[in-house]
Amino acid sequence: MDFYKNIQKIKNMDDMLVLVNKNYILDENYIPNDLEEINHKYAKEEKLLRKTAKEHFEKLAEVASQYGYYIKIVSAYRSYNYQDNLYHYYVKDKGLIYADNCSARPGHSEHQTGLSFDVEGSNHDYNLFEESKEFKWMSKNAHKFGFIMRYPKGKEHITGFKYEPWHYRYVGIKVATLLYKQNLTLEEYKKKS
Ligand SMILES: [Zn+2]
Repeated sequence: MDFYKNIQKIKNMDDMLVLVNKNYILDENYIPNDLEEINHKYAKEEKLLRKTAKEHFEKLAEVASQYGYYIKIVSAYRSYNYQDNLYHYYVKDKGLIYADNCSARPGHSEHQTGLSFDVEGSNHDYNLFEESKEFKWMSKNAHKFGFIMRYPKGKEHITGFKYEPWHYRYVGIKVATLLYKQNLTLEEYKKKS
């Protein structure tokens, strides 16, 4: 897979199964029209997701908390301009290779869809989410609420992104369960369907 080559513009940007990656780009002006603020119990500061994703996440976090797990969103919807600044900050600070390795170029970030988010667990550091007990719980249960771990280990050559145990994406319960059971990424699923 050649990343950031033969880039195609995404037509149906509001589709719940929209594929955004290093080969598919969102419009600079795209802002989902159903963004809602996540309950502050489950998000650090003001964080937005599309209505359906938000509702399902709040349900997940609520159930998790009943079992004694702490799951909080640290990053959710990010605008094109926000991503543009973030990416170019990394380029300026650490160079192009580093920036492309740890950040998406503007228009190529799934965070712009309002269907994706990063979480932290009870160790309060999303970078160390994998070491938290919440990581284990999320790995086994997120699909029941419609979420997939979007950038799994061993699929970097397909997703174009390094392993990110903290980054989740809403695709709906049916598709999430199927991807979970068959160990597929969204790229592989979209190719099949
Ligand atoms: Zn993320």
